[in-house]
Amino acid sequence: MSSNIKTSPTIFVIFGGTGDLASRKLAPALYNLFLDGWMPSQFSIIGTGRTPLSDEQFRENLLNDINQFSRSGKAVAEKWAEFSQNIYYQVSDIKNADTYKEFGKRIDKHNADWKTKANVIYYLAVSPNFFPIIASNISKAKLADDPKTTRIVIEKPFGHDLATAKELNKLLSGIFDECQIYRIDHYLGKETVQNIMAFRFANSILEPIWNRNYIEHVQISVTEQLGVEERGDYYDGAGALRDMIQNHLLQLLCFVAMETPISFNADEVRNRKVDVLRAMRRFTPEDVRLSAVRGQYGKGWMQGKEVPGYREEPKVNPDSNTETFAAIKFFVDNWRWHGVPFYMRTGKRMHQSASVISIQFKDVPHFVFPASATESWQQNRLVISIQPEMSIRLQVQAKRPGLDMVLNTVDMVFDYKGTYDNQAPEAYETLLLDTMLGDQTLFMRGDQVEEAWELLMPILETWESKKSLNFPNYSADSWGPEIAEALIARDGYHWFSLPSNNKKK
Ligand code: NAP
Repeated sequence: MSSNIKTSPTIFVIFGGTGDLASRKLAPALYNLFLDGWMPSQFSIIGTGRTPLSDEQFRENLLNDINQFSRSGKAVAEKWAEFSQNIYYQVSDIKNADTYKEFGKRIDKHNADWKTKANVIYYLAVSPNFFPIIASNISKAKLADDPKTTRIVIEKPFGHDLATAKELNKLLSGIFDECQIYRIDHYLGKETVQNIMAFRFANSILEPIWNRNYIEHVQISVTEQLGVEERGDYYDGAGALRDMIQNHLLQLLCFVAMETPISFNADEVRNRKVDVLRAMRRFTPEDVRLSAVRGQYGKGWMQGKEVPGYREEPKVNPDSNTETFAAIKFFVDNWRWHGVPFYMRTGKRMHQSASVISIQFKDVPHFVFPASATESWQQNRLVISIQPEMSIRLQVQAKRPGLDMVLNTVDMVFDYKGTYDNQAPEAYETLLLDTMLGDQTLFMRGDQVEEAWELLMPILETWESKKSLNFPNYSADSWGPEIAEALIARDGYHWFSLPSNNKKK
């Protein structure tokens, strides 16, 4: 699956090379990019962490990770041998400035060996507390002086609120040009998310109906069966609003609601997305009360197994006020979307894991069929499934075969599995390739992050200042708290059921 696009010699310095993200996502992604012919002929991956390891031990660890997590299955010995000779490890403490001198020496050596000036990508796969110190130390060691060849990749979360996001942006922009900063939201690298843009802007039939005249409301649902697992210490200080809505779900909304960019240039696309965030209606305290609901899961049964409630999870405060579910109604106040509600919900320990966008169109203006024909009537919907199913379904009414006139809802389906033979790349493959190519389209710009925080601050502040008295308010393996149903039912709608294949009716 390689193309004519060529990547330049590249050195990846991975802070947190021994961590979970590096092992489950980064190492498999880099290996698959190598298998698919995207890696440059000269590249180097330098992992770093406090754990003392030799190059050989680090390679062994990554091989185990790849064997376990790579979408292409276990590594092929010959390919692994070729790939792994480019992997190195440096034990280090990221707070110690001397560490960075060592990186400098390694980078200089590669450049000398390769007789070139390679791109250097500093990947910060470490706790967000370390982002400022790493950035400052890179700067002190003069490792990012050339904006053309040095890039820094920042993992989520980017800030804990508006003030801390602004502070981090200020620090980074004092060291790097914006064109060097790659703020990751891995959702943007997902094939199906990128396809929203392709679907909207490469098909002329959609634009005339993609507005308030035809669309009644939009729902964005990202639900997980998993609980917090081992991430209690991080999650208890974050919650669903920070962990999911501030980034992934608002980005999905931007793709649905954005105006057409004049080109596929990174800043053009990002400008159109930030326009959406700027147009989103700000919440008054009364709006927060009426349009935002939160939940926390209690114990229950999932797939025949008893699971603990959130407050009983490891590293979670037994009296925690952190929300594991949030549902919010937004409005985008511009000509295209005036009056169209965008409902969002996300939660842990839900009945099903799925990320789905449902766009509901307005009803027909006049019913011509008898009531007996339309018992299972449903307005047209476009359902974009991001995961686990990767598909787009247009739900329409059609005549059921037979002598009588009975209408059913059927799906016109485009699904990746049935259409394409080749496997879709993982989001991290797309994003790592983009960092090598210097393409920032799928990365968050500083102003986008701040707009998203600003929008959510009234909800965050209200929820943090008022302890919820009814937590836990939904049980594991449910669809969240009843108040979430009430939020949407007040407007005469209900949360859509997640997609299933065309059924015989
Ligand atoms: P992790 O498993 O806890 O790994 C942390 C890494 O930081 C380890 O490699 C650790 O190395 C290194 N480290 C800690 N202190 C250090 C120090 N003083 N000097 C040098 N290295 C140090 O964390 P993670 O889950 O990979 O997450 C990393 C980042 O990715 C976080 O910002 C997280 O929010 C983000 N993220 C992770 C995931 C995921 O799936 N894991 C998903 C989305 C975003 P040693 O143990 O060898 O010291």
